Amino acid sequence: MKVLVINAGSSSLKYQLIDMDNEAVIAKGLCERIGLEGSKLTHKVGGESYVTETAMTNHTEAFNAVKDALTTGEGKVVDDLSEITALGHRVVQGGSNFKDSCLVTDEVIEGIRELSPLAPLHNPAHIQGIEAAIDVFGKDVPQVVVFDTSFHSTMPPEAYIFGVPYEYYEKYSIRRYGFHGTSHRFVTGRCLELLGKSENPEGTRIINCHLGNGSSISAVKDGKVIDTSMGLTPLDGFIMGTRSGSLDPSVVTFIMEKEGLTPAQMDEILNKKSGLLGLSGISSDDRDVTTAAREGNERAILTHKILEYQIAKFIGSYYVALGGMDALVFTAGIGENQTIHRSRICRLLECFGVEIDEEINAEVHGREAEISTPDSKVKVYVIPTNEELVIARDTKAIVEAMAK
Ligand code: ADP
Repeated sequence: MKVLVINAGSSSLKYQLIDMDNEAVIAKGLCERIGLEGSKLTHKVGGESYVTETAMTNHTEAFNAVKDALTTGEGKVVDDLSEITALGHRVVQGGSNFKDSCLVTDEVIEGIRELSPLAPLHNPAHIQGIEAAIDVFGKDVPQVVVFDTSFHSTMPPEAYIFGVPYEYYEKYSIRRYGFHGTSHRFVTGRCLELLGKSENPEGTRIINCHLGNGSSISAVKDGKVIDTSMGLTPLDGFIMGTRSGSLDPSVVTFIMEKEGLTPAQMDEILNKKSGLLGLSGISSDDRDVTTAAREGNERAILTHKILEYQIAKFIGSYYVALGGMDALVFTAGIGENQTIHRSRICRLLECFGVEIDEEINAEVHGREAEISTPDSKVKVYVIPTNEELVIARDTKAIVEAMAK
């Protein structure tokens, strides 16, 4: 079975065609600047990239460009779209209703639309992607939606209710939802396998650190999330590439008043101009901040100290929430590659009996490894994440269940 995984943004569309017989990526690509001047498609097969500059005024045109890339020209990987059994879409916000992945129906599209106030930049774009896919693939090709929030739906109310008047939770569904759920789910599954507990996760306590451009940490007990660092939106938690993470809420109103900012302008500062970028003044990319820190740049050094300190504090609080920690997992761009942060975060966790082998840690970039010492009280793993594969697996499972 071949599954096409889709991540539709407002002006972009990422795709991966996965052969589910061996879970191998057949082709992947990205449509950029949809609806804007200079739109282009980059299609990748094996090590080769094929770039097509073509007008894509909407998502349907983008899907048609993807269809052409998959079925014609040098990057052709299928003779006809009918070889693709199903599509799996990433959806950022599933609210409290969508606790699992599901087949797309008119009702499901409506449900995703109703959640748009909670994810105004994402959910409307996902709907555009789903509707465009129906236009190009036809109504008979099954489409599945996989939500970033679903894996976190097991959190208890004490973890997801904020300390503002309860009426806002009732009126506007303001609560912690958590994001990166597909990634947390993937690494939890793999971690349980490594612990030899996938058949029986009862009693396991795992803390996952997804550290990328956007970052989040989750506390997983018995294989289920009990708390996570992102909140109503992906802004909550600790500093990220350009996001502030948690801070004293009065900082927000104070800056707005002093600088005469609108809510939208303040939102832009918190989401796009803070974090590594805002603190270091150098870049949102941790590699640039690391280079500057190595050269002795004081702000870069401070930025890294803040990042590692905040992450260690989250892990400490989740240690308490879980009543201990059997395994600590690092994943995503920074978690998989930035050895220096893994090393310093683990040093901050020595009081929990965390001990890593610095030589092994220094050699692990973008591959799975156990980096803790045999004496460490906590297993520390690097597990590369694979959100597309989770989406493809769910899509396959739902399509197969339909056929029964
Ligand atoms: P996104 O959240 O956009 O998926 P990633 O998971 O790719 O982002 O993470 C991006 C971050 O990871 C950047 O700060 C970057 O510096 C870091 N990163 C990514 N790849 C590497 C690498 N090979 N070596 C070091 N750092 C990396």
